[in-house]
Amino acid sequence: MDKWIKEVGIGAGLALVLLALVSGVDFSVFLLPLSLAGLGFLVISGRTGSLSKFPVNSIGSGEDSTIPAITFNDIGGQDMAKREFLEALSFLKESVKTSKLGIRPLKGVLLTGPPGTGKTLMAKAAANYTNSVFLAASGSQFVQMYAGVGANRVRQIFKQARTTAEREKKSSAIIFIDEIDVLGAKRGKNASHMEYDQTLNELLTQIDGIRSEHPVQVLVVGATNRSDLLDPALLRPGRFDRVVQVDLPDKSGRLHILKIHAANKPLSADVDLEAIASETTGFSGAHLESLLNEAAISALRDGRDLINSHDLSEAIAKVMLGEKTNRSLQREERERVAYHEVGHAILSETVRPSSVASITIASRNQALGYIRQNPQHDQYLYTKDQLLDAIKVCVAGAISEELIFGQRSTGATGDIEQATNLAKRMVFAGLSPLGIVSTELPSDILHKAIVQIIAEEEKKVEEFLRGKIDVVREIATHLLKEETMTGEELRTLLESREYSLL
Ligand code: ATP
Repeated sequence: MDKWIKEVGIGAGLALVLLALVSGVDFSVFLLPLSLAGLGFLVISGRTGSLSKFPVNSIGSGEDSTIPAITFNDIGGQDMAKREFLEALSFLKESVKTSKLGIRPLKGVLLTGPPGTGKTLMAKAAANYTNSVFLAASGSQFVQMYAGVGANRVRQIFKQARTTAEREKKSSAIIFIDEIDVLGAKRGKNASHMEYDQTLNELLTQIDGIRSEHPVQVLVVGATNRSDLLDPALLRPGRFDRVVQVDLPDKSGRLHILKIHAANKPLSADVDLEAIASETTGFSGAHLESLLNEAAISALRDGRDLINSHDLSEAIAKVMLGEKTNRSLQREERERVAYHEVGHAILSETVRPSSVASITIASRNQALGYIRQNPQHDQYLYTKDQLLDAIKVCVAGAISEELIFGQRSTGATGDIEQATNLAKRMVFAGLSPLGIVSTELPSDILHKAIVQIIAEEEKKVEEFLRGKIDVVREIATHLLKEETMTGEELRTLLESREYSLL
């Protein structure tokens, strides 16, 4: 009926305009008021693309379902985070029981941790577990330069969550806001802070408006890498009062994630996922997924049906350092890179035997060559000796270059930065000759202490490598010929020549 009235109206309007034109009426005077009225109508009815249309993703397993297919079993590691999150979700699952006990509904859960650790997966799994409608948006989608638009979008997403749940006959909805720090940063801190503040205020109002009596329970799940930036009002009890830390996975977590992502990939018998988990300290779930994917691509490129350990080893380097480049180095530059890497490798094997996983002079991204070390286990604390050993490994590349070519090069820039950070860590942990220091240590004293620590280690490394110069030359010659050596090949070569590093 509505449609019919509209069509008749439009037809009659056009007929009148035609009649007026034929009779010579001048329309130009109506143009401005008409366009303003039209624009106003569009804004009010929410039809302008840029001002009020707000794409929210409802992600589902099937065509028209809004419940994601991901379950908590698809998330590797994160046992603690999963446990805490599941406990929080029992409020949604058992809302009747909890409301009988007079427990107020849980309104917000904040997932915090580094990128790619599975925060989005967790939110999706939560929706699946609680059979809730899932709506996802990113903090940046709420922030606009026009005052009031962000706040309107916040209202819209809450409304959409409730209406979608009602339409799908679900009793709960999860609103996932990624990068919540963009919208929930401390108030008064932003340049265009009126708009940011209004948006955040609206979010707080909407969260406060969540009631247990409402037929659709809404839970807001926020994710951030920077919880320190959030306005304290967001974190106060009754709002995001559960904060779940989603950290980088430890070794068993990495193994679990690798197994999940390897489930659909044919691996050859020589692949040891446990060894890969050991070698990938610091990798997030996203890195591990990408590593297996890259390894599979490499098998496909070679026309093989199975992914082997070489594919995985190459994929680790690719995920860490990027794609191989076909830079052609001058002969002397290539030799310099080889001696530099051999310096690192020899010191690494000396301070921690069997620590070298591979050495290569094939360049990737910014790196002209590199050695990859095998961490034995995840380490959270370092002693003074361990930090000094790590500094020795860092400086050994430049020292090896100096011994062979008489001069160092800019190739050591990254190593110096790393050595400096290690020395700085020593100073502030009270492990330097300065003893315990305050965090307000004057920069010139800090600088002096760092230089002294590094200089002492450089001296020791120089003496050591000078005594092993034949070993350095032999390994570098081998590396220049082969381009890449595994840690095993390096150790076999050392043993066959009966070279002792000690
Ligand atoms: P960001 O902070 O950058 O938004 P995030 O923490 O939300 O990242 P996700 O989007 O959940 O990370 O993860 C990205 C991808 O990485 C996933 O689709 C999945 O393939 C993989 N992944 C990350 N963490 C895990 C995990 N714990 N278990 C299995 N896969 C994971």
